[in-house]
Amino acid sequence: MQVSTGKSILNGIAIGPLRIYKKAESQTSQLSSLAPEQEWSRFEDACGKAKEQLAGLYEKALEEVGEDNAAIFEIHQMMLEDDDYLEAIKGIIDTQGATAEYATTATGENFSAAFAAMEDEYMRARAADVKDISRRVVNVLTGQDEDELMSDQPAILVADDLTPSETVQLDKSKLLGFITRYGSSNSHTAILARTMNIPALIGVDFDDSWDGRLAVLDGYNHCVYIDPAPELLTAMEEKRKGDLKQEALLQGLKKKPNVTLDGKEIKVYANIGNAGDVGLVLQNDAQGIGLFRSEFIYLDAEDFPSEDHQFAIYKRVVETMAGKKVIIRTLDIGADKQAGYFNLDKEENPALGYRAIRICLTRRDIFKQQLRAILRASAFGTVSIMFPMIISVREVRDAKELLEECRADLKERGVAVGEVEIGIMVETPAAVMMADELAEEVDFFSLGTNDLTQYTLAIDRQNPKLDNFYDSHHPALLRMIKHTVEAGHRHGCWVGICGELGADQTLTETFLRMGLDELSVSPSAVLPLRKLIRSLDLSKAPESL
Ligand code: PEP
Ligand code: MG
Repeated sequence: MQVSTGKSILNGIAIGPLRIYKKAESQTSQLSSLAPEQEWSRFEDACGKAKEQLAGLYEKALEEVGEDNAAIFEIHQMMLEDDDYLEAIKGIIDTQGATAEYATTATGENFSAAFAAMEDEYMRARAADVKDISRRVVNVLTGQDEDELMSDQPAILVADDLTPSETVQLDKSKLLGFITRYGSSNSHTAILARTMNIPALIGVDFDDSWDGRLAVLDGYNHCVYIDPAPELLTAMEEKRKGDLKQEALLQGLKKKPNVTLDGKEIKVYANIGNAGDVGLVLQNDAQGIGLFRSEFIYLDAEDFPSEDHQFAIYKRVVETMAGKKVIIRTLDIGADKQAGYFNLDKEENPALGYRAIRICLTRRDIFKQQLRAILRASAFGTVSIMFPMIISVREVRDAKELLEECRADLKERGVAVGEVEIGIMVETPAAVMMADELAEEVDFFSLGTNDLTQYTLAIDRQNPKLDNFYDSHHPALLRMIKHTVEAGHRHGCWVGICGELGADQTLTETFLRMGLDELSVSPSAVLPLRKLIRSLDLSKAPESL
């Protein structure tokens, strides 16, 4: 058995033969024997056909991965109509007597290099696209059909890299997974793979001897086993069966609304700790991400993660969610979540100590770096920002002021920023009691019941000896939740729960009766919760608290 590692872009298991895909190199001669007008007309015909292909791909992607993800093929069509691009090709044909193939390839290379050198992240990402559209036109010109990507038999595709258009053309009924040598986890290809729910690894070194051999692609552990040992194969088949069971459940409930029998609707979002979890969010059909615990980015790092590093992660999550809401909680470090490079003092009562927003409002440079990264990512989808551990109106105002400074700073630099909804975690009794005033400051509340239980009951959530006392159904806690919902609604805020209690099915009916607007739970809890919600009937006798 041989094991190779890479970077997983979707958790999942694929088992089957490997198939190496090699792209044919297109041979294009530079000088044409035709007049420039004839070459230009060849180009125009090919360009028209390429646009038709792209329109077809757009329709296919629209059906399979939704409008936002399909948009890339509309962008490609628009790029083929770009005056600068067309003029550059015509210029090479006219002045150098070049073939349409040569002029298109050269222009694709030149534009790609120019895009790659740009400051703006969005424009840099266009470098691969302009090469992709040029290759498409050249393929039409040379009469090469799209290379046959898939064999007749289901297989795990292995390639140096895949363009977005190649990825969307893959026949999903035959594609078990894919492995590439190159590619980035932020590319559209990776985003499409995640959205299409295909286990995939990038950055894997392979050779021709892999072709046709049996393999297990283990997206959970970022590796591929070639000629797997029988025990491993059996274990992986079991794991895959478990995944399939979950998917079967998903199929039945996918796209169904989270609505009770008597018509009350509630949003069910998912909690994530890192960008790799987004595949699970999609697999489980959550309507959004209700809590992205951004501190895991910090805990995963040796030193303060840079603004660009964070931006890349947030952008990837936001783009993959393709327009669905992503609530990014700002840094909630301290207490049990420690990163050595913060050099935080040892504290007597860390849960009541220097943590979360308290650190952010005193170490503003760190906070602003994160806020800028989130604001930049907001240009790529639907982003909400949520501040943790709030106890006062002053803290919220300070945080919002810093956010505005960051927005102004980015604006001045000409960096795109989207509309951002602002919310707070309600996870301290102080925030509950101040809910009316706090609701005037923000768009939403998300109840952090893990901490709210600990602070309300004065029970350290880390102390296993107190498990028997940690009563998450304590009436004091339930009344606090109810109070928060009512105060939030009085002032036009929506109110959700992102603590573990949100997934407690014995309380779902109670939460619905309280009027909660959203429950954010771990991805695997989304579908069971949806099933329960759809079976409830709130028109029957109400329950008293
Ligand atoms: C909470 O306190 O309920 C919460 C969601 O945040 P964390 O568990 O990360 O403290
Ligand atoms: Mg908390």
